[in-house]
Amino acid sequence: MLTDSSTAAARAADRAHVFHSWSAQGHIDPMPVAGGSGSTFWDYEGNHYLDFSSQFVNLNIGHGHPRVVEAICRQARKLCTVAPHFANDQRSEAAWLIAQHAPGDLDKVFFTNGGTESNEHAVRMARLVTGRPKILTGYRSYHGSTHTAMHLTGDPRRWPSDTGTAGAVHFFGPYPYRSAFHAESEAQECERALEHLEQVITLEGPQTVAAVLLEPVVGTNGLLVPPAGYLRGVREICDRYGILLIADEVMTGFGRTGRWFAVDHWDVVPDLITFAKGVNSGYVPLGGVILSERVAARFHDTPYPGGLTYSGHPLACAAAVATMHAMRDEGIVEHAAWLGEHVIGPGLRKIGEAHPSVGDVRGLGVFWALELVRDRRTREMLVPFAATGAQAAPMAELAADCRRRGLWPFTHFNRLHVLPPCNVSAEDARRGLEIIDEALDVADRYA
Ligand code: PLP
Repeated sequence: MLTDSSTAAARAADRAHVFHSWSAQGHIDPMPVAGGSGSTFWDYEGNHYLDFSSQFVNLNIGHGHPRVVEAICRQARKLCTVAPHFANDQRSEAAWLIAQHAPGDLDKVFFTNGGTESNEHAVRMARLVTGRPKILTGYRSYHGSTHTAMHLTGDPRRWPSDTGTAGAVHFFGPYPYRSAFHAESEAQECERALEHLEQVITLEGPQTVAAVLLEPVVGTNGLLVPPAGYLRGVREICDRYGILLIADEVMTGFGRTGRWFAVDHWDVVPDLITFAKGVNSGYVPLGGVILSERVAARFHDTPYPGGLTYSGHPLACAAAVATMHAMRDEGIVEHAAWLGEHVIGPGLRKIGEAHPSVGDVRGLGVFWALELVRDRRTREMLVPFAATGAQAAPMAELAADCRRRGLWPFTHFNRLHVLPPCNVSAEDARRGLEIIDEALDVADRYA
């Protein structure tokens, strides 16, 4: 029992019984978090951190937004839980608001408790609608950590639990900085990536492919903004072969890229969108699948064989309704776009020029990454692909230096991601960039 609110006591209590995700349990040392407000959180000793990771890239509206907190409390006083087969005003309003912001004819929402479940259900829906088994996903992707979602993931996190492909087929998406197609321009990368995808479909047998599932801007696996025509090209290929397009907007949705959904940057309408994280900033777990009219119609007379006890949980939906209203009233999505264009993008490019360890700078809105290298000319990565332990030391040192300077970073392999809340102030964004600029001297020592 935790009797004393100190960092040491919180650490000891955590170590005693909590089994942590993605971690060797003997090496865990999680920082106890005592509280948070806006773009900052702190420990029990009063050390404050500017949250440039938005926790797990879910905190689009910042910590402790008063409207969202109040909505959760109000709903808790009224009704804390309700089974999914009842109607509930918060669930209906959340679905209505989500449908309003979703592109095209995507206007029905199936609620889940997070991103992984959303992808599980979207894939099941696609298989039922098409009667086909296979799902194509990128090698550079993360789609979640249950059985199917893990097989669909391309990221090395798949390796330890990859007991069979179960209909998952991977392909290369565009990555101009490290082109798998030896392309020399963005246009060439786009053309060749589309040719490659079509070839994979042809060789797999289009009649066996239910869906292409992709992150419109790849998140954890590189912050890869696709070349201008890529997503439209994928949409056309899918249409040609009767394949459904599922956009995994778990990380990119609800303002992160400066639009409500990342597909809006290219006016592409998928058949299904999966979401979670930013829909209510993770104040209460919530995710879901947005279905197009055509996909939803398939289940008009035949029931959808799937559901969850907490689907459309009233506390989570109340938080989502308040979040979306706040985002609209406070212009948070527009602010994220403005920050990307006028503060974070230009700031990071300037930092990139000054530091030999920065090989590439890319992003949109409040969704950016610096790709770090040992040698700008050869593009040798600062740490090797899928680096662990000692190999990953330079990135661990960089992250520790950021933390020492009061910024909580998000690093993955040889990348430092820049992911503040969508409503971070310009002043805090600039302060964060200054810290990154100073901390990069650590990486430069290896370059
Ligand atoms: N899809 C993407 C693109 C993600 O980034 C994540 C999580 O980071 C997931 C799915 C899984 O979401 P969750 O952890 O909420 O299950």
